[in-house]
Amino acid sequence: MEEHFIPGVHNYCDRWCDRCPFTARCRVYVSEQEFSEDAKDPADPAFWQNIKKNFEGVLEMLNKMMAEMGIDPEEMDKLPAPKPDPDIQALEIAMREKTARYANAVDDFFRGNAPYFEEKGEELEAQIQDGRPVDVEKWQFFQDAVDVIRWYQYFISAKIHRAVNSMEHLEEFDDPKQSDSNGSAKVVIIAIERSLGAWEVLSRQLPEKHAEIVGLQRQLQYLHTELCRLFPDWNAFHRPGFDDEPGQTMRLDFNPN
Ligand code: SF4
Repeated sequence: MEEHFIPGVHNYCDRWCDRCPFTARCRVYVSEQEFSEDAKDPADPAFWQNIKKNFEGVLEMLNKMMAEMGIDPEEMDKLPAPKPDPDIQALEIAMREKTARYANAVDDFFRGNAPYFEEKGEELEAQIQDGRPVDVEKWQFFQDAVDVIRWYQYFISAKIHRAVNSMEHLEEFDDPKQSDSNGSAKVVIIAIERSLGAWEVLSRQLPEKHAEIVGLQRQLQYLHTELCRLFPDWNAFHRPGFDDEPGQTMRLDFNPN
């Protein structure tokens, strides 16, 4: 069984396990399936016992790795904490504000247009009841686009935060292109591109909402440009699994071109 797992595949994925082609080869997914339902509920003590068990496992692995590298954890504890880079901190705050603005704008869009979507749903229902033809595929694609937007809405913020924060640790990587920062940037840039494509699907199907959607796409385009400027080598990062067997990717790649 062990040899089927792809080492580190879960480190640079989008955590959308329901749509992931690597579930059977992902150690995180497989171990999560072993949890009882109680262990998935934060209100249940089993959930916290499980977290504790996982934490102990990670700590043990880290201590082993440090021992192999000749690092004494007790000596490390005595070292002064590194000072955060003020430029990176300022950048992180600026990006956090912009991603929060996008996430809130997405909520506003769906909340503000709830009556409009309800009306569209009723029109569709009437169309079905009257026996008029319905383009099922088109509406499924539409629903999929909404799912994509919703899935990445907060993910983008979390990953940008990680990409920028990890810039402080670039020198720890022999190859900066394979740094955690560059990998996180790659994952978030892909998420932004998919979100842009998904908004394009909505825009085509809801032409009367075009102006609102363009405003959201502009926010995403700004983030995309900024990330490409900060991480010019983002595409050179190699994601375990996803960049080895891209032909297996099941998720729809929304490509407006
Ligand atoms: S690699 Fe796939 S299965 Fe594993 S955590 Fe990421 S999305 Fe889920």
